[in-house]
Amino acid sequence: MTAPDSIPMNGRAPTPDPPTICSAMTVLPDPLARTALAWTGDHHGDPADIRDLRCTLESHTGGYHYALVHDVAGNTAVWSRWPQGSIPDTLLVLPDCLATHPDHGGCSEYEGHPGGHTWQLHDPWNPRPARPEGTADAS
Ligand SMILES: [Zn+2]
Ligand SMILES: [Zn+2]
Repeated sequence: MTAPDSIPMNGRAPTPDPPTICSAMTVLPDPLARTALAWTGDHHGDPADIRDLRCTLESHTGGYHYALVHDVAGNTAVWSRWPQGSIPDTLLVLPDCLATHPDHGGCSEYEGHPGGHTWQLHDPWNPRPARPEGTADAS
């Protein structure tokens, strides 16, 4: 009779999943979109171009979602925030996060944001550009 040898444990190394981007989506109400364009001096911008917002913070379970609405000259940008399950009702001008990465450049969040910096978050919608140019699908 043979005793079973030591059964290999299904010892998967605990690979820490990279934090994921929140990606909550909302639509900026038109008056706020127009206000954002006015604040940024973009008098020719189309509010429809900046209305679709997506939270770029690290996945979170509470608090406000934050999305960049429009860049402002200098090191600031117009952001909006909205509570879970609601729509934006405010705009904020926030300074850019000053963190930079030698390979990935500057962080795209605002200064003092919670969670990881841009390059620390896994964003399934925005994979790092890996394909060389020229492989675009022919239409
Ligand atoms: Zn969020
Ligand atoms: Zn940052």
